[in-house]
Amino acid sequence: MFEFNKNLKKCMMIDWIKNDKKPILIAGPCSAETEEQVIETAVRLAKTGKIDILRAGIWKPRTRPGAFEGIGAKGLPWLQKAKEITGLPVAVEVAKASHVELCLEFGIDVLWIGARTTVNPFAVQEVADALRGVNIPVLLKNPINPDLALWLGGMERLQKVGLTQLGAIHRGFSSAGEKIYRNRPQWQIAIDFKTAMPQIPMINDPSHICGRRDLLHKVAQKAMDLNFDGLIIESHITPDTAWSDAAQQITPEVYGQMMADLIIRQYDPKDIKEKSKLERFRKEIDMIDEEIMGILASRMKIAREIGLYKKENNMTILQSDRWKEVLEKFISRGVQSGLSEEFITRIIKSIHDESIEQQESVMEE
Ligand code: PEP
Ligand code: MN
Repeated sequence: MFEFNKNLKKCMMIDWIKNDKKPILIAGPCSAETEEQVIETAVRLAKTGKIDILRAGIWKPRTRPGAFEGIGAKGLPWLQKAKEITGLPVAVEVAKASHVELCLEFGIDVLWIGARTTVNPFAVQEVADALRGVNIPVLLKNPINPDLALWLGGMERLQKVGLTQLGAIHRGFSSAGEKIYRNRPQWQIAIDFKTAMPQIPMINDPSHICGRRDLLHKVAQKAMDLNFDGLIIESHITPDTAWSDAAQQITPEVYGQMMADLIIRQYDPKDIKEKSKLERFRKEIDMIDEEIMGILASRMKIAREIGLYKKENNMTILQSDRWKEVLEKFISRGVQSGLSEEFITRIIKSIHDESIEQQESVMEE
């Protein structure tokens, strides 16, 4: 029917990475709504040439009841059809064994486990058990709370049932004070995951991090700059009337342009001369880190002496006026040196925290 229907792409995530087909691009609507919407989205996405896997939510875990909770199993044949027409492998979110069974029955190629499911080890285990003996690619989103161990633990559950085509999705974390993002990215947690499990591809989900379309490109580019392996982005034919997550979806054409505009950088410089220049910079950084370490150790040594003094004189560790003075001086000095207020505040608070710990341990002696 359409020109795409040549041969179905093989969905071997791990091989793609090995063959340097980075980034893996996953796109599609937040939710399957109607057959026409699924097919038209798939066709228009396929035409961009910037998609490897089509996504669509069938069962939607919504925060509040009454919101659209997904079209259910009747949407699965629509995805089958989209796959036949475009040749794209299709991905669906699963949260329990019955979802897995239906997806396997309808030839879904890739499964993902949502953030609200990853928080619950019982649910992840149920999905893992339903997949025993079926080596289908499975992507595990980070849990909604910033808990690295829970995310790694979920991945271990999937590995233990024999799944080998696994990937992680970084979709950000719920946070009470967050103003810009729907889910605060906390990139360091995804980086820690990559460090702990370097063999697992890391896919970034700008849509659920941002919650709004104007920030998507910036987040997607950052993920590429951090050497992430792929992106999953929500795309809808008429984003503003989407039944779920309207504010963060973009049309297939906007998506295609956004992907074309991404700058994909190399891991290593090609030129050997350039590499030795980088090594020189890194030596300088190592020396400065060494100095920072020495200075921090000296600061903590004095903190312990102050702790002893306060103990002998029966004084409280925290003296709010002194702390306020240190904080303000540090911030204004840092800003003068061109450092961001946010960064410098985090640093001094963390140093102060450790200083209190050190004094506390002296007092306990
Ligand atoms: C989704 O991908 O549509 C979804 C529900 O995402 P998350 O689990 O990240 O909230
Ligand atoms: Mn969504």
